[in-house]
Amino acid sequence: MATFLHFAPALALAVAMGPRLVSRRLMLAGAFCAVLPDADFASVAFGFDSYSGTYGHRGFTHSLGFALLLGVLGAMASGPTGRQRLTAAVFIALCTASHPLLDGLMDRGICNAWAWPLDGARHCLAWRPVPTAGVNLFGWDRLAREALWLGVPLLLLAHAGMTLRQLGPRWWRTSPRWRRAKAANRQAPRTLAPPVFAADLEHGHLAQTVAAARASGGWAGSINTERTRRRTAMRAVGAAWVRKAVV
Ligand SMILES: [Zn+2]
Repeated sequence: MATFLHFAPALALAVAMGPRLVSRRLMLAGAFCAVLPDADFASVAFGFDSYSGTYGHRGFTHSLGFALLLGVLGAMASGPTGRQRLTAAVFIALCTASHPLLDGLMDRGICNAWAWPLDGARHCLAWRPVPTAGVNLFGWDRLAREALWLGVPLLLLAHAGMTLRQLGPRWWRTSPRWRRAKAANRQAPRTLAPPVFAADLEHGHLAQTVAAARASGGWAGSINTERTRRRTAMRAVGAAWVRKAVV
């Protein structure tokens, strides 16, 4: 096990992917999933399997199959849109897979059952550069080595992600303007009132609905919020039309 830094890839990935894709909640879930594989110690402690068995230490929980499984669960527990689900699946799967990767880079310890459930056999990485053999598992020396070999590359990854993100599509960037709008949204009372939509739906005019939503002024003027309002209004009006046509 990388003793100290299993949570760190989740933070680095969250910074690299940016707050518009990875919320604080998702980041914490990723950090939890990045540490979770070492819970397999319990199966050894309770005698379910031997230390080096498929369900022992660095067994099925240290596999790509387990990472995919948690990714799917993460998608199911995430927000309603396709983008949110896809992001959660990719992020959680990457965080979980980072655990066996970090373990695999250490030059001590048994190898991982990477290919579970297809194959329970253990496979070592060809490159295991982190020098931890003979070092106290919870000592300062170990922490220093992990910081150098794992912490520094993760910091570089986070920084590279932040830089690249600013060159990406506009919806992905986190400009000062976006940060201000987000802060304003957080402070403003949320009065995107259903009664406004209900009243407007009776007239069935999209323009009216949008105007009413704007006039309600509950959320401060973020472009994103405005777009969300318009989309919600369009969906509601569309649903009303469909209902009228069917009934
Ligand atoms: Zn481990």
